[in-house]
Amino acid sequence: MYNQFEMKTLAKLENEAFIRSTICAFSSKINPSVDFIEDIKTAVSEAITNCIVHAYSDVEGYIFIKVSIIKDNTVEICIKDTGIGIEDISKAKEPFYTTKESEGRSGMGFTLMETFMDSLKVYSNKNKGTEIIMTKSIKSEE
Ligand code: ATP
Ligand code: MG
Repeated sequence: MYNQFEMKTLAKLENEAFIRSTICAFSSKINPSVDFIEDIKTAVSEAITNCIVHAYSDVEGYIFIKVSIIKDNTVEICIKDTGIGIEDISKAKEPFYTTKESEGRSGMGFTLMETFMDSLKVYSNKNKGTEIIMTKSIKSEE
């Protein structure tokens, strides 16, 4: 069942929908429910938006995406940038914490990723970039 795909796109808002639907199309290999796909869409959208809005706020850069089917019921999604990085990861994950309040951000991105996925790991280095790894499994009752 193990399968994987990778892609790289410029961090532009106009690519977000394309990335989201590509990840969902690949994830459909594990026969997920509509709700499962909706959850992945939400989480991916938050992660991609963070790369565009925060990692590369004023500069051009790439988003690196890797999606793996790691078990016959589990998908793992890695989203990486080489942007500004996050200084304090645990603070960044707190609900309502944002460094862009002036731009109308609500600070709920990581909270949504944690809520809609089964696991979320965040690795980051200042000025080097950020990588997030999220997994989600189809539960047996689904
Ligand atoms: P919202 O997602 O609700 O629009 P937000 O993006 O500020 O608001 P989160 O997605 O939870 O909220 O992110 C919290 C904070 O973590 C951000 O304000 C930003 O400072 C930092 N952050 C998140 N992702 C990245 C990233 N890829 N690169 C650099 N900083 C990031
Ligand atoms: Mg966000």
